[in-house]
Amino acid sequence: MIEASDIYKSFDGNAILKGISFQVNKGEVVAIIGPSGSGKSTLLRCINLLEKIDRGRITVENEVMVSTNDSGKAVYADKKNLRKIRLKLGLVFQSFNLFPHFSVMQNITDAPVNVAGISKDEARKIARELLVKMGLEDKADAYPCNLSGGQCQRVAIARALALNPDVLFFDEPTSALDPQLTMEVLRVIRKLAQENMTMVVVTHEMGFAREVADRVIFMDNGVIVEEGTPEEVFNNPSNEKTRAFIKGFD
Ligand code: ADP
Ligand code: MG
Repeated sequence: MIEASDIYKSFDGNAILKGISFQVNKGEVVAIIGPSGSGKSTLLRCINLLEKIDRGRITVENEVMVSTNDSGKAVYADKKNLRKIRLKLGLVFQSFNLFPHFSVMQNITDAPVNVAGISKDEARKIARELLVKMGLEDKADAYPCNLSGGQCQRVAIARALALNPDVLFFDEPTSALDPQLTMEVLRVIRKLAQENMTMVVVTHEMGFAREVADRVIFMDNGVIVEEGTPEEVFNNPSNEKTRAFIKGFD
């Protein structure tokens, strides 16, 4: 579904991603773990076209988003193709990023109507179904300021799902939430996993990663240090850095 190879990204001369390669297969849940500052958010932002890479190649369902030319420069697909690719990808942020002046319903239907060109009626129907799925059927007319953090995050997930993405990315979706609200959000993500939604989840919830992920990627200092099944990475890490990181969560 997604293939990324040899991705490099620097900010102001500081190398942040230093040759990252990985793939995400259809129906798979990939957890990305690693210390703060290791480049996890930057990686997600690059794949979701919020940042441009310096070098490397990314394809989404065999469509080339970006590749590197002979002089080593990243070359992106044209605008029309990028728009098409972007619609296949959904991103849920740590800080929800809901529009505060929009109701829950408006937050969810805005992009489907204004970006994807779906009719208002259809978008509202989809939104209502998603709100039921998120356990928020009575919140359509509420505003973000009247919701708990866990409810906001579930609205953000509904908003991402409303565009029917092929892959959903989560950047530490629960790290702004207290334990009770974290559970609500993890329950929703677990449910999506059971429905075979393809997902990439950056998380500090090690128990959740172990339980839900098909594959775990450990990143440190801009590189993938280790990658494997949850059993391999959590029970029998081959790299000393992975071992030390995981030990910190015991
Ligand atoms: P993580 O999500 O693993 O904590 P990030 O991808 O957020 O790591 O950050 C990795 C490094 O990149 C950090 O040192 C951060 O300061 C730097 N960085 C991220 N975004 C920018 C930016 N827009 N400009 C400059 N530096 C950035
Ligand atoms: Mg981050």
